[in-house]
Amino acid sequence: MDAQVVVVGLGTSGSMALWQLARRGISVLGVEQFGIGHARGSYTGDSRLFRSTVHEGTRYVPLLQRARELWRELEAETGRHLYDECGALQIGPAGSGSLKNSLECAEKYDLPYELLDADALRARYPQHRVADDDAAVLDLRAGSLYPEASVLAAVEAATSHGASVVTNTEVLDFDEEGGRLKLITSDEPITCDKVVVATGSWTMRLRPDLRGYLHVLPFALTWFMPRHPEMFTPDRFPVFIRDSDGVHLYGTPTHDSYSVKVACDPQWSAIADPDEIPAFERNELRKVGEWAARYLPDLNPEPVRHSMHHDLCAPGDFPIIDIDEDSGMLLLTAFSGRGFKFAPVYGELAADMITGERNDLYDPGFALAQHAR
Ligand SMILES: Cc1cc2nc3c(=O)[nH]c(=O)nc-3n(C[C@H](O)[C@H](O)[C@H](O)COP(=O)(O)OP(=O)(O)OC[C@H]3O[C@@H](n4cnc5c(N)ncnc54)[C@H](O)[C@@H]3O)c2cc1C
Repeated sequence: MDAQVVVVGLGTSGSMALWQLARRGISVLGVEQFGIGHARGSYTGDSRLFRSTVHEGTRYVPLLQRARELWRELEAETGRHLYDECGALQIGPAGSGSLKNSLECAEKYDLPYELLDADALRARYPQHRVADDDAAVLDLRAGSLYPEASVLAAVEAATSHGASVVTNTEVLDFDEEGGRLKLITSDEPITCDKVVVATGSWTMRLRPDLRGYLHVLPFALTWFMPRHPEMFTPDRFPVFIRDSDGVHLYGTPTHDSYSVKVACDPQWSAIADPDEIPAFERNELRKVGEWAARYLPDLNPEPVRHSMHHDLCAPGDFPIIDIDEDSGMLLLTAFSGRGFKFAPVYGELAADMITGERNDLYDPGFALAQHAR
């Protein structure tokens, strides 16, 4: 097999890079070790939060604004519903750092938002139990993304622009042949001029040299049954992130009319490989259930569903989007538990790097050298 560009890994970022490259008329082939939209990627679990005002800081806002445009373009190209713009509540003690950062994003970029005090929160969002000194920033350019459908949509859009896709084929190694790259796979070899490596948590199997500064982190998701499911639909219940008494919770509205996703931050240490994901222990499940029902009292504290996931993380939380000078490969990876909302714009940055186009949204923090430092 032969292509101008090969994208290895068709999960979150690889599917988007494939779409963006194919859109530019590049001869591109995507290779995925499983099937498209498989259940083992970092994108699984029904929903992902999209926010324009992020507590991580204002430098992400222009990327998110472009990502939002691209999410809408992907919906229009494929006719799939991928994003509910139901808003996002950032709840925490009034004046706390995360609220201040969200407000700074909104004000600096003139984004639509509302600031709610505890009384306003109780009146509008009785689903949340809040303390008297709590407040919230309601980001109106935010909502819930559908991740499995998004990966499938991006691959569908890519193939409609002429991309080829090979599934159930693992890339095992890279070689050079006649000045071109040769990919050794579990099936026949593939030759190409350029490679995008978008292999997520599996990256260190191909690039063990990155083990020194990247790590795979387990993440857990939990869903709870509300007494009144009608109070948790996207039109009444924005996605949320909240910090209360040292407890960090986030969640999305109901998408199945009986369960609401409420999850907490990772509690587990790094693992060497996605195959080593730990079990969700009973005491951990109970703890998350107690927190969920404490801060969202309509929820039954026993999780109706739970699952363990993984993501490749970098210490500074910046992804790697860069061409590795030694191997010539473009690395598109290490999204540190927050990459989904950015996925189409990261795919666009990767496509621009491959074609040598300048993209002013590129952040120097994405450079490999920054991570190696
Ligand atoms: C539980 C959880 C909740 C999250 N919540 C949010 C959120 O609310 N908002 C947000 O923005 N982000 C969120 N994130 C982060 C986001 O989902 C991830 O950062 C993102 O999905 C990572 O994408 P990726 O492309 O790196 O990996 P993946 O999507 O896993 O894609 C990697 C792909 O490469 C394939 N592959 C690997 N090795 C090979 C090989 N050798 N040959 C062929 N194919 C290969 C894999 O099979 C896979 O399909 C969350 C993450 C988790 C785990």
